[in-house]
Amino acid sequence: MKTVRELLKHKGTDVVTVATDASVFDALTIMDQKNIGAVLVVAENDEVAGIVTERDYARKVILQGRTSKDTSVTDIMTAKVVFVDLGTSIDKSMALMTEMRCRHLPVLEDGKVRGIISIGDVVRAVIHDKEILIDQLEHYISGSL
Ligand code: AMP
Repeated sequence: MKTVRELLKHKGTDVVTVATDASVFDALTIMDQKNIGAVLVVAENDEVAGIVTERDYARKVILQGRTSKDTSVTDIMTAKVVFVDLGTSIDKSMALMTEMRCRHLPVLEDGKVRGIISIGDVVRAVIHDKEILIDQLEHYISGSL
């Protein structure tokens, strides 16, 4: 797997979103149901307004003495979302996550969100590639003995 396009072919293109009028509790409920750590916040015109992750909840709700039912997702989301596109390499995506200190990257193509990748997806893709390489090298070595 060299690019985000190949990763999404395996993973799928589902993107879980909440509306801008959702509460943090709504966002956490859907994250729990879908077993994920981030949701995109989408405005009425379908534009991405931001991203909310479990880390936002920990830092901007719990630590600040707020409650999830009385806090809007827009109060804790990161509005300046960093995207990748289908042609972005897995290595570049990993470097971006490290540099930006985030574990989720939505995938944007032609102005539309085509999927979302997490650090877990990227690590799995890297391990998968290494396993294939090891397999090939083992075949090469045993074949040449
Ligand atoms: P995460 O490590 O993904 O839980 O996110 C850590 C912080 O970065 C949180 O404040 C998120 O809202 C923010 N964040 C996560 N992903 C992105 C992204 N793709 N673009 C901008 N901010 C992000």
